[in-house]
Amino acid sequence: MKITSYDDLEQAEMVLSFGKQKMSVSIFKIDGLLIDTGPAKMKAQLLPLFDQWDITKVILTHHHEDHTGLAYWLQENKKVPIYIHESGITDCEKRMKLPFYRKVFWGERKPFQPIALKDTITSVNHNWDIIHTPGHAHDHVALFNKEKGWMFGGDLYIQPTPKSLFAFESVPEIITSLKKILTYDFETYICSHAGVKINGRQAIENKLGYLEKVQLQVQSLHNQGMGPHAIRQKLFPKSHPMHYLSFFENSPRHFVNSILK
Ligand SMILES: [Zn+2]
Repeated sequence: MKITSYDDLEQAEMVLSFGKQKMSVSIFKIDGLLIDTGPAKMKAQLLPLFDQWDITKVILTHHHEDHTGLAYWLQENKKVPIYIHESGITDCEKRMKLPFYRKVFWGERKPFQPIALKDTITSVNHNWDIIHTPGHAHDHVALFNKEKGWMFGGDLYIQPTPKSLFAFESVPEIITSLKKILTYDFETYICSHAGVKINGRQAIENKLGYLEKVQLQVQSLHNQGMGPHAIRQKLFPKSHPMHYLSFFENSPRHFVNSILK
């Protein structure tokens, strides 16, 4: 685990591996606010940090197990309020039915009782706008700090030019959410997997441009009479180990299908 600071922000970055697959995920602490809790798999490394950090509130960007894995522990041991978008509450209150590979990779998340986020939240010295940004997850939120011009985007970005999607994701919804955060005045974008991006606005604009371009390509091939399978073969011919590892929960077919829905 690597701890870095940027201004008054602290980032704990964890790299997990499963066979040859590596995935990094970060949690952030700023002004008493803990943004995401990290996966249950990192419990031994994260608990000392939770004891060391002064945490007054926890905000979860969405209910996925790599972001919420230790929320139950924080709730039981730190007695701090834990917030999530209202549509994610029932997901957190029950045991998450995870596909095997996710259980092995991130560990299982125990249930906990979060509180519904409102449109804004305050930390010791700051005000934050909470922006509902579905597409990666139905309950996904981004956090905007106006004074700093910072946007915490959770899993909205991750990578600039994805060629594959999870079954629960939607390209059109991600496009709408990227446009929505671009209406806020930010330069720095902070991603749960790619970390702090100083020229983050540009990165978000580039990703939006890429997704809109692919969306148009898919739609025009479809209008020419091509089916989803043929479109996928033409635009995304390559296979990735992740497709097999996830038993195709992650696949280019979801990318195409979410556009044609
Ligand atoms: Zn996620």
